[in-house]
Amino acid sequence: MGRYQKKQLLKRRCRPVTLRGLHKAAFTKAAFLIFKPYYYLDQPEPAALHYLYMKKNSATKKIFPANHGRDFFIFITTLTAWFVLVTFFTCVYFLAIPRNTNTSPKLVVAATTFPLFDITRNIAGDNATVLQLMPPNSSIHNFELTPFVEEKIQSAQLIISLGLEADGWTKSVAEKYAKKTFIVSSSPGISLHYFNNNLPDPHYALSIKNATTIAQTIARYLISLDPEHKNQYETNEQLYIQKLLAADKIITEELLPFKERKIITQHNAWWYFAHDYNLDIPITFQETAGKNPEDDYLKKVVSEIQTNKIKTIFFEPQLSTELLKKFATQNNVSLSSIDPMDGGETNESSYIAIMLENTKKIIESFQ
Ligand SMILES: [Zn+2]
Repeated sequence: MGRYQKKQLLKRRCRPVTLRGLHKAAFTKAAFLIFKPYYYLDQPEPAALHYLYMKKNSATKKIFPANHGRDFFIFITTLTAWFVLVTFFTCVYFLAIPRNTNTSPKLVVAATTFPLFDITRNIAGDNATVLQLMPPNSSIHNFELTPFVEEKIQSAQLIISLGLEADGWTKSVAEKYAKKTFIVSSSPGISLHYFNNNLPDPHYALSIKNATTIAQTIARYLISLDPEHKNQYETNEQLYIQKLLAADKIITEELLPFKERKIITQHNAWWYFAHDYNLDIPITFQETAGKNPEDDYLKKVVSEIQTNKIKTIFFEPQLSTELLKKFATQNNVSLSSIDPMDGGETNESSYIAIMLENTKKIIESFQ
């Protein structure tokens, strides 16, 4: 090696770290820009300070002799560290998303009749999706399953039913699809009325007092399946029970002036309601729910109308009224409607509003 070459080599080895030197290769430049806080980690002073020194004072630059091997090692180590960190946080991010959606999907609850549906949606609030199974104007006494209803049953994790023969169809459908669907009864805590044939009367939700018990039962079911929203369910339950009790008070007070509280209804759905407000139902137009009465039975109805001086018979939107209309004309009684709400009502309706409306119709018949 000649003298000139040695001099050049020495010059290169001792060349100070300058910005111009760092800019020589694009790769090094990128590394410097991205990793400059780490670039001089082996220096006793903070990296940012070195950077300023380098820019301002060429004498300071000379204290950092070029060491490409070291620089490259720092660069690769830093790059690897960044790669590991980015990969780690990306994995955490993507693993976290499915876990979140799995732990808190919105609970889907279905209820058979409108009162159960409305009570459930009041307690659920925004925390659960609540479906009504029985379509508008259907009656529990002649209800037939449709593919649309079966589809709703399949999508629900919880089905709130009357728990009696009246909506026993929910059980067979859920079994048919072997779906993990809980079918529960809203009847616990309710003192059931029994018909003469010893079958339980399924219309217990037509008592507002019973509705408060139903609300408590439904809240317990929702909390057991979705404990995360326990506080909200309990708050909604309390608020809704207050509304129910307020409606119950209104009905009691509105009926107070009427001592004779006799009504005839289309079918035997109103025992619980009558029991709450001291109404007397001497007979119903249909002997068997959903079936037209025989002539012999109708004679008994005529007799009760005369004995009790009945002026109005209450029909129901879910049942056929053809025969009842003829009968009313023949026997000089008027017709009015009260709604036992078996099938779905419009979304704007509410159980409480319909109960108040029913009361209004009954009071009108007393005037
Ligand atoms: Zn009924």
